[in-house]
Amino acid sequence: MEFQNLLDDIVGSIKPRLGEGNVANSIPELAAVEPNQFGISVATREGEVYSSGDSETPFSIQSISKVFALALVLARDGESIWNRVFREPSGNPFNSLVQLEHENGIPRNPFINAGALVVTDRLLSVSAGEANGVLGLLRDESGNAVLQVDTGVAASESRHNHRNQALAHFLASCGNLDNPVDDVLDAYINQCAVSASCTDLALASRFLAANGARRDGAALLDPHQTKRINAMMVTCGTYDAAGEFAYRVGLPGKSGIGGGIIAVVPNYCAICVWSPRLGSSGNSIAGVAALDEFTSCTGLSIF
Ligand code: GLN
Repeated sequence: MEFQNLLDDIVGSIKPRLGEGNVANSIPELAAVEPNQFGISVATREGEVYSSGDSETPFSIQSISKVFALALVLARDGESIWNRVFREPSGNPFNSLVQLEHENGIPRNPFINAGALVVTDRLLSVSAGEANGVLGLLRDESGNAVLQVDTGVAASESRHNHRNQALAHFLASCGNLDNPVDDVLDAYINQCAVSASCTDLALASRFLAANGARRDGAALLDPHQTKRINAMMVTCGTYDAAGEFAYRVGLPGKSGIGGGIIAVVPNYCAICVWSPRLGSSGNSIAGVAALDEFTSCTGLSIF
């Protein structure tokens, strides 16, 4: 498929929408970004890359990291994580506290913050001594060895993470964290604070479009595990806007409050879009609109 002209067209048609929404304010450092940027990259499973706009500008990946953390836990530890995390959409904001108490400390899914804290806890337990779990995977799969944690963003989140502290302590009170709360929060905050560009993330997400095969051909996940991560991205990847995202875009997707969204066309390609201004559910407004245009123009949707 001829992607380059389409991506250039999308950059043009998205421009008038770049002023809609607001940048995230829950992490003060994220508000420092120039808000009217937009980038898009597509990486095919064979490794061809097409990109346009601000596709090479690094941004804070935030909750996109949750997909990579889950992939590592499934790869290293199999299915046991599902004894500690459900697989249902929450219908609530990503950092909601209410549901967790009703459901006795079992988070609804691995992509809301509570679920990602449990996944991160398990990742710490099964990768003892390894410093760079998610960062290492992103470096390997993107081929960009200089990807880094933005320590300014991590420090900013550490100073303002009262809700995540509340979630983590509640999980611990229910016996659903094995590691010390502060260790889990530090690991979570650091993986969220990785900076990467659209091109880095499209390349790093290719295993989701390749039945779990890594850049070097080795299996990170088997095809069933890969299918299941993609299914959960459809139902839970964009939080309480997952229904609207499925309706408009029709692909597995995962957003972050840095304004990035990854999306997967199974067996074909991975896409990453980025624009910092968010809608009320924490998903990039221009990013969702761009993916809507991408799937409408190409017919590349799972539906
Ligand atoms: N680090 C952010 C938080 O925990 C990630 C949220 C997001 O990107 N949706 O609040």
